Amino acid sequence: MIELVEVSPRDGLQNEPTILPVDTKVALIERAIAAGARRLEVVSFVRPDAVPQMAGAEEVVARLRPGAARYIGLVLNKRGALRALETNVDEIGFVCIASDTFGMRNQRQTSEQSLAEARDVLSLARSEKRDAQAMIAAAWGCPFEGPTPQDRVVAMASALAEAGSLEIGLADTIGIARPSEVEALTRRVKEAVAPLPVRVHLHDTRGMGVANALAAIRAGASTIDAAIGGTGGCPFAPGAAGNLATEDLAYALGADLEVDLDALIDTAIWLNGELSRDRVSALVRAHTSGGC
Ligand code: ZN
Repeated sequence: MIELVEVSPRDGLQNEPTILPVDTKVALIERAIAAGARRLEVVSFVRPDAVPQMAGAEEVVARLRPGAARYIGLVLNKRGALRALETNVDEIGFVCIASDTFGMRNQRQTSEQSLAEARDVLSLARSEKRDAQAMIAAAWGCPFEGPTPQDRVVAMASALAEAGSLEIGLADTIGIARPSEVEALTRRVKEAVAPLPVRVHLHDTRGMGVANALAAIRAGASTIDAAIGGTGGCPFAPGAAGNLATEDLAYALGADLEVDLDALIDTAIWLNGELSRDRVSALVRAHTSGGC
C-alpha cells in the first residue's frame, strides 16, 4: 500500500490566483477526507500579507474534526512553528531548500540556513511532543541554478534524519525531474536514511507526474504527495500544470491507493469551479468528455 499526502488545501491553493474563503477550504478538506485521504497538508503558517491564499490558517485548523485524519501544518521558520504549536495540527512540516538562490527567493534562507532552521524547528517540536518532518525542495533542479547535485541532497537528507525528522521528503518543486532521475535519487536517499520512510512531492509541469511517482515507488518511496484536480502551479512557470493530480495517481496505482476515485473526480470538478480554473487533470478530462 502507498500512503497519500493530500496537498490540495496547501500547495494546491497557494499558487492559484483565486483566494478561497475559510469555509471553502474546510469544505475541500472534508471532501478529501470523504474521498479517502488520511493524511493532509492543510495549511501553511506563513505571513498572510505575503501569501494571501494561506490567510486564516488558525481558523481552518480550529474547524477540522480531530482524529478524522492526520493534519500537517507547513512552516518555513521558527516563527511559523510557534504559530503551528498553538493549534491542533498533528504534525509540523518544514521545507528546506537544496539551492541557495531558490531558498533566498522562497523563504530568505540559503540552503545551509534552511537546514539550520529545520534543526531548530524539529527540536522545538520534539520538546513540545509534536510530530515533525522536513522536506527538501528543489531536490532535482532549480529554475536559477539548474540541476541539483545528488550528493548535496543526500547530505541534507542524512542531516535531517539525524535531527529527528520522522520521514524525509524530496520535492520536485518545479516539475523538472525525469523518471530515471527520480528513481536514482530516491534510491540513494532511501539507503542513506533507512529505516526512515521516504516521501516524494511531485509537480506535473512537464507531464511526468505519474511516471515520476511510479519511479519513486520502485525506488522505495512509501508516501506520495498529490493534489486533487492537479491544482497549484509552478511559481516560476506561469500557466504551467500544478501538482500531480490525486485522481491521476489513484488511477495509476489502482488498489494500491485506498481512495474513492469517483469522489476525487467530483471534488476536482467542484474545486475547479471554486477556483474558476480551466486546466484539468487527465482523469477529469476523460470523465467530462464521456469517459472513453
Ligand atoms: Zn509543490
